[in-house]
Amino acid sequence: MEEIRGAKASRTDRRRGALVGLAVGDALGAAVEFRRPGSFAPVVGYRDGGPHRLEPGEWTDDTSMALALADSLATAGWDLNDQADRYLKWRRTGAYSVNGRCFDVGITTARSLACYEEKRNARTSGDPSESASGNGSIMRLAPVPIRYAGLYPGRVEELARLAAESSVVTHASPHCVSACRYMAVVTAALIEGEDREAVLAPDWPPLRRIDAAEPLHPLIREVARGSFRGKEPPQIRGTGWVVESLEAALWAFAGASTFEEAVLRAVNLGDDADTTGAVCGQLAGAFWGEAQIPPPLRLGLARADMLEEALAGLLGPAPTP
Ligand code: MG
Ligand code: MG
Repeated sequence: MEEIRGAKASRTDRRRGALVGLAVGDALGAAVEFRRPGSFAPVVGYRDGGPHRLEPGEWTDDTSMALALADSLATAGWDLNDQADRYLKWRRTGAYSVNGRCFDVGITTARSLACYEEKRNARTSGDPSESASGNGSIMRLAPVPIRYAGLYPGRVEELARLAAESSVVTHASPHCVSACRYMAVVTAALIEGEDREAVLAPDWPPLRRIDAAEPLHPLIREVARGSFRGKEPPQIRGTGWVVESLEAALWAFAGASTFEEAVLRAVNLGDDADTTGAVCGQLAGAFWGEAQIPPPLRLGLARADMLEEALAGLLGPAPTP
């Protein structure tokens, strides 16, 4: 199946693809967010509606938070309080949102940002309890592996650590932290041109390395070792729980022949469709590259100028300390 991937996808194209893919998956899923699987006409392209009554191609908190994170990495380098400040700016003023309003924020994110607002310490603001294991930190992760892809393969432990830190700002449970560590290394490997089958193999060496450096949560380790193989919906569920969300996104990605097929498989699971789409879109975009995202999906994205600005920052030189 791998020959379907564009032989000429460049590293830049794959870095761009990871962020554009996130937004495409988010926007495709937004119209069917919270719908039960099978209860809606299958998504085949952008459509209006959904719980936030958006226009076709408009995206949600997944992309807004990714844009805030991208902006932070480009302007402040690695600074967790700066990441939290920008999430808070989105929350309070609607910055980084598609229509100038923060119209959707996850419960865990809202609670963690309120804690940050009070104590101003992003390292301790995220909720560490197991019950707060939503997909709110994997949904926005792409800027980290895009910016730090060069740490793959030599320093994957360090890349995993950065991903973990980016999670704890809002999501500090071991499930969320482990999911971000694994997903960042997978995304970076795809950006660096590794093969999908190699990266998703149960005994993938970088997986072993990050697990040895700091054991992954057993449920995330199970997903990373291929729990999604041999399963189909309804065993695969695109819920807001990070374990199922990551598993569903990997299922959608691993079983697809094109970027479009991958994100449509993800969003048509319903439930937390925008976020399953955003997570899958990061992986699929990093693998196939932006150029293989069909033009109607690329050009139909709302506020593409905001994505371009974020990409210019992420792909540009690092800020001087
Ligand atoms: Mg969303
Ligand atoms: Mg969502």
